[in-house]
Amino acid sequence: MRVERNGIAISPGIAVGKVVILDRSKTIVQRTGIEESQIGSEKQRFLSAVKRSKDELLSIKDKLDSEGAGEHHQILNFNIMMLEDYLLSEKVLKHIESERVNAGWAVNSVLTKKSEAFKDVEDIYMKERLADIYYLGERILRNLHGVHEDIPMLDEDSILITHDISALDVVQYAKNKAAGIATDIGALTSHSAIVAKSLGIPAVMGLQDITLRASPGDSIFIDGFTGTVILDPGEEEFEEFKKRKSDYLDLEKKLLQYAKLSGRTQDGKEIKVNANIEITEELNLAMCYGAEGIGMYRTEFLFTNAVYFPDEEKQLESYKKVVSALNSPEVTIRTLDIGGDKFPAGMEPSKKLNPALGLRGIRYSLHDVDTFSTQVRAILRSAEDDKKIRMLIPMVSKLSEIIDTKRIISGIARELGREDSWEIGVMIETPSAAIIASDIAEEVDFLSIGTNDLIQYTLAVDRINEHVSYLYTPFHPAILRLIKSVVEAGHEKGIPVGVCGEMASQLSCVPLLVGMDVDELSMNAHSIPKVKKLLNTITEKDSKRILKHSLGLKTEYEIREYVRRAIVSKWGESFPPEFIIEITSSV
Ligand code: PEP
Ligand code: MG
Repeated sequence: MRVERNGIAISPGIAVGKVVILDRSKTIVQRTGIEESQIGSEKQRFLSAVKRSKDELLSIKDKLDSEGAGEHHQILNFNIMMLEDYLLSEKVLKHIESERVNAGWAVNSVLTKKSEAFKDVEDIYMKERLADIYYLGERILRNLHGVHEDIPMLDEDSILITHDISALDVVQYAKNKAAGIATDIGALTSHSAIVAKSLGIPAVMGLQDITLRASPGDSIFIDGFTGTVILDPGEEEFEEFKKRKSDYLDLEKKLLQYAKLSGRTQDGKEIKVNANIEITEELNLAMCYGAEGIGMYRTEFLFTNAVYFPDEEKQLESYKKVVSALNSPEVTIRTLDIGGDKFPAGMEPSKKLNPALGLRGIRYSLHDVDTFSTQVRAILRSAEDDKKIRMLIPMVSKLSEIIDTKRIISGIARELGREDSWEIGVMIETPSAAIIASDIAEEVDFLSIGTNDLIQYTLAVDRINEHVSYLYTPFHPAILRLIKSVVEAGHEKGIPVGVCGEMASQLSCVPLLVGMDVDELSMNAHSIPKVKKLLNTITEKDSKRILKHSLGLKTEYEIREYVRRAIVSKWGESFPPEFIIEITSSV
């Protein structure tokens, strides 16, 4: 019977195929009392199950190595480390002894206690770490009960359906060809979601009861763009989905051909096209999609995905990967931007507070100088001898924040003997920073306009509140005038100005930004090929004309309609049809 569900669109792409169920249901354990004489052997049984679990993980690691998927080691290492230094082991051993119970029951009791302690914790990242411990616990229980890991056989059209999925399962099965993933539970920020995205596997999570509805071999369609999943569609509909998938793959292929283009308009104006990344696993995608450099590495994930803030060496490891991955003169590492909409474990603000206006970005870093200094040390140490590392400072709202930040960085650079290894840039994302951009430009090496926040703060529209999303638009005259003034301020002081918010990847906005003389566009890797193609089709001269006319209009509606029409009538014939659809449906 046809079933349609809408879940969370986790990883873009379209998949059509057959259901393969990955059974990750909870292992049922019964309580059995044991004699004092059995305590030793029960403890031994538990330790053997831990060892078998570790062996399993090591063999997955070997397999991934041989398949060249070594970049996902950190997830495996994290799991192996937890097994080796398994915090719960001690508790389980004690529980077997004090309660005189079987090992399975002891594992279950300790895990249940742990989950109860976390029941009311709202922090999503903390819950994620608990989930990792839960997955490991389940692995140990399977091994205690002699249940061998059922590794489903996957074909190229297999779509993995499971109640919940660990990041490790995503790595293991995706490398094993899964065409898509659909789960009952899961969140956009989960480790597994990030990994699915970085591997380019279409995924939808949070479908609630998909495992109850699906049977092995059922036909299924998943749309990782919208979060729609359809089980058992009729024959005609299934054929239609197959066509949608092949159209999507054709488009991807077509777009990939543009990845090699250079960032240059038809009349020769050069604009750097860089990638924004959140995790180092995205570096490969960034390269495939033609990133010329890394315009913004959002380092928050290093912090929000861990129970403790990462130390200097751990951070250095990640920064070095970014620095050495692309053969690019430019790598921009954004310093920690927690607060706003990204919080590490235990730091979620009270619901009454307004985190977007709170202790966020550089405000947090100047408040917790130890954490900031550790990050700066790691960034400076990651710089290669012949290249400067670019640090980008988020959420600046006044000049003294930059002066203070520079003082801290210079001090550390002196200590490390790396005075000449760095450049500093400021994210222009608050209206105050935009208005004093000229003064800021005197202090720094480059500016990068964060339009996601600049629009939010300038128009007073919460960027994640769907009730006011109709007010959120880059076409507002205040936004265009502000961006133009920032670019002019930067150029007057002789420094480059880029845009790293979503606006940089919107086809209907790019000609306006080109018209303003923006030097760099930095965006999610997927958007790079289409933006390069657009740049290669348009001209700087006409972009300036479009901008000039737009700036004379008074409302966002007039501007948007004019820009859409102007782009389509000037260059529409040279664009792939999908571009026209995107341009004419832009908000
Ligand atoms: C922005 O605000 O435009 C930006 C790029 O930063 P983030 O989306 O991480 O806040
Ligand atoms: Mg921002």
